[in-house]
Amino acid sequence: MKAVIVGAGIAGLVAARQLGLAGWDVELLEKSAATRPDGYMMDFFGPGVEASERIGLYPRLAAVAYHVEEAEYLDPTGRPACSVDYDQFARLAGGKILSLLRPDMERAALAALEDVAPARVRLRYGAPVSGVWRDDAGIRVAIDGSPCTLAADVLIGADGIHSTVRALGFGAEEEYLRPLGMRAAAFIVTEPLLNARFRNRFVLTDSIDRVAGLYSLRSDEVAVFMVYRESTHALGYLRPGSPRERLRREFAGLGDTVDRILELCPEHPYDDIVAQVVIPGWQTGGTVLVGDACGAVSLLAGQGGSLAIAGAALLGDILGPVNTSEGIGPALADFERRWRPVVEEAQAAGRRAASSFLPANRTQRLLRRWVIRASHLPGIDRLIARQIVGKIAR
Ligand SMILES: Cc1cc2nc3c(=O)[nH]c(=O)nc-3n(C[C@H](O)[C@H](O)[C@H](O)COP(=O)(O)OP(=O)(O)OC[C@H]3O[C@@H](n4cnc5c(N)ncnc54)[C@H](O)[C@@H]3O)c2cc1C
Repeated sequence: MKAVIVGAGIAGLVAARQLGLAGWDVELLEKSAATRPDGYMMDFFGPGVEASERIGLYPRLAAVAYHVEEAEYLDPTGRPACSVDYDQFARLAGGKILSLLRPDMERAALAALEDVAPARVRLRYGAPVSGVWRDDAGIRVAIDGSPCTLAADVLIGADGIHSTVRALGFGAEEEYLRPLGMRAAAFIVTEPLLNARFRNRFVLTDSIDRVAGLYSLRSDEVAVFMVYRESTHALGYLRPGSPRERLRREFAGLGDTVDRILELCPEHPYDDIVAQVVIPGWQTGGTVLVGDACGAVSLLAGQGGSLAIAGAALLGDILGPVNTSEGIGPALADFERRWRPVVEEAQAAGRRAASSFLPANRTQRLLRRWVIRASHLPGIDRLIARQIVGKIAR
């Protein structure tokens, strides 16, 4: 059996590995020239932990995880306003929370392809899929405008929140993207002094309508995450103008640390709207969507990587044993039936998290400080941990 997978992000890499291990021949097509270095720290908990343990990916992820002790909100003078004890939440979740840099997760999933016989999975970088059609041989794709002769029994769209496979087979992006009224940027800067100052903790600005988050990496680098309110004008995820200049405008006046980060900001940071994808059907005529393409929860939910791994692993479990073209439709329907409720629950939690992520005024900011301070009290800590990680250890 043959699969074409579009997108070698976390979902695409895991789906390719699982199908390759099940004996499928897989063409994995990625538009970028190589793995992308962009992205911030992601909390890895919930379904992805169980799935990655089951498929043998967890040790590779644990090996690149960071140890976060606390998340601290600082005022513009650099004084702590309040802090969250991360270790406490990890203990309440049975120790099963990893803090992973997005590109490290992608690289771990890429390295795990070595578990598959090389002939089974063919990964091509610099291969943007631009068209899809069907003929007697099966599903065919066009790469970068030129029809190519790839034929497959199944086409898997693992091409992220702005999926081309979804646009070609299911409908225009505007129908399925649900913006949450914010925009996010992520980038990495080399800054030894800040790196030394912020080790082992998330540092966030205690600001209104915008937040900048920093985390020190193992080298001299600092990972940066910036979120600010943006009214939802015609989706507009590709906004004209320089994203760096926009960040410098939006984050002015937040103190020396943020000024220094903005000075070092690259010209083209990761820059996108904060949004979810809600789509009534994930599969049609041998094409299926997985990961952010069908169920983005938003960057603020922090669960995108976990759900991408768990969804792709489940798709591999269900599709792997199929050995006739007649078996494909029922298998894809089964995947959607089993996976959709998990995604919808995570999306509801993501919307709740988004609604309180940026305080809109001083009162809301004060309320956030109280809630965070209360999280240190026994009992309240369990309630908040349950909100964050879903369920906690007894
Ligand atoms: C650059 C970047 C930074 C991110 N940073 C964060 C973060 O800081 N925090 C967070 O929580 N989440 C972040 N995310 C989202 C997070 O990675 C996803 O929620 C999660 O990993 C699910 O991934 P996915 O594999 O479904 O999609 P993605 O990780 O988006 O991967 C999709 C892949 O498909 C490729 N692709 C797209 N279109 C085509 C095409 N036409 N042809 C071929 N290939 C195509 C893309 O280049 C990409 O490699 C980021 C995503 C990206 C792309």
